[in-house]
Order: sequence, then C-alpha cells, then structure tokens
Amino acid sequence: MPWYRDLEPADLVPGALAVGWLGREHTFSTGTTREEVFRRLRQLFVDPFQPLVTAGSHGCTLCQFEPERRGTANLFVPGQGVIYVCPELILHYINAHRYAPPPEFCEAVLKCPDTRTMEYKKLFLANGGRSLLHQRKTPVTYVLAPGVEREIVRLFASDDVDYVRTRLAAQELPMDQHAPPPRVHIAVIWLSKGDRTRFDHELNGASGDWRDTLGAAGLANSDWREVLMRRGVDLSGFEAP
Ligand SMILES: [Zn+2]
Repeated sequence: MPWYRDLEPADLVPGALAVGWLGREHTFSTGTTREEVFRRLRQLFVDPFQPLVTAGSHGCTLCQFEPERRGTANLFVPGQGVIYVCPELILHYINAHRYAPPPEFCEAVLKCPDTRTMEYKKLFLANGGRSLLHQRKTPVTYVLAPGVEREIVRLFASDDVDYVRTRLAAQELPMDQHAPPPRVHIAVIWLSKGDRTRFDHELNGASGDWRDTLGAAGLANSDWREVLMRRGVDLSGFEAP
C-alpha cells in the first residue's frame, strides 16, 4: 500500500487528502480514538462509494510478524471543502495499533451520511468530489515489464514499492517507437536510488522529455541492453528497434 503523511494530497487519488495510509517505516500519531468514530467508520466501510478503483489487496505492515488484516476498499469522506480518502485497513490500525486519525477527519466521519444516499452524493460533490470524479478518465497505460518490477522491489523500501509501481504504470511518457517504456522506467528507477522524492522528480522529468533521463542513467546509447545486463536487469522479451 502506498504511504502518505496524514492530510497530504494522495496523488494516487488526485484531489483527495490522505488519512490512515500508514507504513512500518514511518511514524504516525497514536492515542485514544472515540469509539463512535471507529464504529461509524466500520459502518461506512460496509458499502463504500468508490468512484476510483485502486489496485489490489494490501496487508498490514505494522503487525510484527505477519499481517493480521488485509484491505482492498477505500472510503471517501467529505469534509469542509475537502475529500478525505482512507484505506480499509484504517479500522485495524485504530483498533490494533492505536492509530489516532486527525480530529477534523474524525468529525467528518461522524457527520458522513450513508454512502448510497443522495445526501452523501451532495456533500461529496459540494466539497471537491466533482474534480475527483473527472480523474476517472485518466488511462492507466503501461503493464510494467518483469525486469522493471524486480528493480523496483530491489531498490525501494517495501512501503514505497506500490507507490512507485502505480505511478510508473499510470504516468504516460511521450514515447515514440525508439524508446518504449521499460528502458525509461529503469532509467527513472536507477536515478531515484530508492528515494521517493527523487523518484517523483525523475518521473516528472521523464514525462516531459525522457532523453535526458536515459542519458543520465547511461542508457541513451545503442548498447543500453548490455548496460542493463551488466547490472543484472533482463528485459528480454521486450522488443525495441
Ligand atoms: Zn496490523
């Protein structure tokens, strides 16, 4: 599951603020959460309205040895001029790991109508949900090559792997046939050196013009396959001119 600081824009769901996207390697606020907030959240997760489908099921990484809970759904909670998005695992984080979500989010949860009602839809649209709905058109373009997947897992912290994967798959690159995605993907990954901020920077750069990206990673010349092989990356099966 991607990690976000609470109330940071969740760029996997543009237009929404993240709450409860925790990860083992990051601190989070703890304390007592009002039980009614927990119970209301649980009700809302019975049938959450999910205008955007985000990929896959995620296990809790805070559990010491193995995840006791997994989650797939996300919930959108309208606040004061904002939409919060929280993952299903937030219930487990509160109950088992004493996670304390931000107070403004708790207030919004208590005020949140059932998700299938007109009242919910009105609140959702009035507080920023409209722009969020428009994101649905964004196509997810690339299936990542196995060699790319392996480099992500090798170089990034486990909390960041899904984030990197999802962004690479969704970020359209201005490609012509001479530089299809896997080569550029590897270049972005190498230049990021496992650092998420740097990854965002490199991916933004590559989405404008990837030639500098390839150059900086040493993959601009015709020997790029050999360079990859020397570093243990096998992109065979991927045809390029
Ligand atoms: Zn856990």
